[in-house]
Amino acid sequence: MLHIGIDDTDSLDGGCTTWLITEIISELADFDLIGPPRLVRLNPNVPWKTRGNGALGLVFGKGLGSKEIIGEIEGRQIHLYSNYKEPSFDRKSILDRISKIVCANSKEDSQPGIVISDTYLPEGLYWQGVRGIVSKEDLEPILSSCLTYGLRGSRGLIGAACALAWSGTISNTRDSGFTWELIGYRNKDLWGSLRDISSESVLKVSKLKGIFSCSDSDGKIAMVPNSPCPVLWGLRGIDNQVLVDNFHNLGPEKPERWLLYQTNQATDDHFIFSESFDIVEGTSIWIDVIVSSKVEIIRGGHRFINVKDSNDNEVKCAVFEPSKNLRNLVDRLEIGDKITVCGSVSDATINIEKLKITHLVPRFSKPPNPICSCGKRTHSSGKNSKYRCNSCGKRYDRPKPIIESANLELGWFEPPASSRRHLTKPIELMR
Ligand SMILES: [Zn+2]
Repeated sequence: MLHIGIDDTDSLDGGCTTWLITEIISELADFDLIGPPRLVRLNPNVPWKTRGNGALGLVFGKGLGSKEIIGEIEGRQIHLYSNYKEPSFDRKSILDRISKIVCANSKEDSQPGIVISDTYLPEGLYWQGVRGIVSKEDLEPILSSCLTYGLRGSRGLIGAACALAWSGTISNTRDSGFTWELIGYRNKDLWGSLRDISSESVLKVSKLKGIFSCSDSDGKIAMVPNSPCPVLWGLRGIDNQVLVDNFHNLGPEKPERWLLYQTNQATDDHFIFSESFDIVEGTSIWIDVIVSSKVEIIRGGHRFINVKDSNDNEVKCAVFEPSKNLRNLVDRLEIGDKITVCGSVSDATINIEKLKITHLVPRFSKPPNPICSCGKRTHSSGKNSKYRCNSCGKRYDRPKPIIESANLELGWFEPPASSRRHLTKPIELMR
C-alpha cells in the first residue's frame, strides 16, 4: 500500500495540517483511501509544538467491495472500502505531487515533513513520539526504507513517521485505543471571519451517544476554534456513524468540505503509569500519591500542592487558572488524603490534567472553649493540657474535636473541555 505521513505544516498564527490533507486526497483522486485518515496527537510537552502537536497518516490503494462515505471534498464523496488491492505507483512521482501542495500551503515558520512508505512503521516509534522525545538515532534507521521530504529544518519528519507508526489497535488503558473526529472546513472566503455556529445546535449534537468535548459545563463552546484556521468545527465521538449521521445538524454556517478521522485523542496514551516519582522532564505521569501540604494559591489564581509517593519522595503539583473548578477541589484537600494525579512534568512540577480522590482523612475543627460553672469562658493552659478558668481557677478536660464533612467526594475530577489536552481521556469515557 501507499502510506503517507505529514506533519508540521501549520504554526501558531493559523493554518491547519488537516485541511492540507483534504487537498492531498483531492490531488490523489486516482487512488482510494484504505482505512480512515489518521489524526495522531504526539507528546504535548515537546517545546516546539504547534497548537495541538498533531500529525497525519494516510493509506492509499485500490478500493474493492462495498463502500461507506467518510467525507466530501469539493463535491466529491470520499469512501472507505470493505476490501482493497495493492496499487501500482511510483513513490517519487507521488512525492512530487504532494510536496507541491505542502510548499504552496505551509506557513513560513513551520518545518514540514513528508514520509512515504510501503508499510506501517514500527509501533514502538509511535509510543516514543507520544510519551517522550524521538531522537535522530531512533528515527534514521526507520526512515532509511522510506522516501522523505522536508522543508526549513524538516522537524515534521518526526511526527510524520510517528503517524505512520500508529495503527490504533494497541491501547495504553483497558479501553479502546482510538476515537473519531469529524472535521468540517470553511469556504476559503470565510477564513479569518467569525464562525456562525449556534449554542443550540452544539447542545443538540452534544447529547448524542458517545459524543464528547463539545462544550464546557458553563455553556462555553469547545468544539469551534477561535483561530483564523480553515476548521469550522471538530465533532468528537466514539462511534463514527453517529458523527457522520448527525454533523448536518450543526449550524447555521455549513462546512464546505468535511472528513472523518480516526484519532488517538482521548486515549490517555501519553501517560506513563508509575509507582514512584520518576520525574522525567517533558513526559506525562499517572501516579498514586498522598497529599503532603496544604494548597498554596499564587497570583493569577494558580494553585500548588505537594504530594508524596510510596517512598516518601515529595513533588510539587500545579493546577493552573484555566482548570477553573478543579482548583476549588484542590483547595479542599488535606494532608494525608490519597489521590491519583495525571499530568505533564515541567520544571520538576506535575501539571495536573485530571485527578482521582481515593481516600479522605477525617476533617476536624476546634470546638469552642468550655464555659466555667461561674459563667466565665475557660482558657487553654498549653498544648494537650486542661482548660482553666482565670476567674475561679477550676480546670476542665479538653473538649473532643468536632468531626467535619470534607465537602469532597471520592472519584475522578477534570478541568473543563476547553482547557483539556487532546490526548487526555474525558472522565465520561473512562470505565
Ligand atoms: Zn470559673
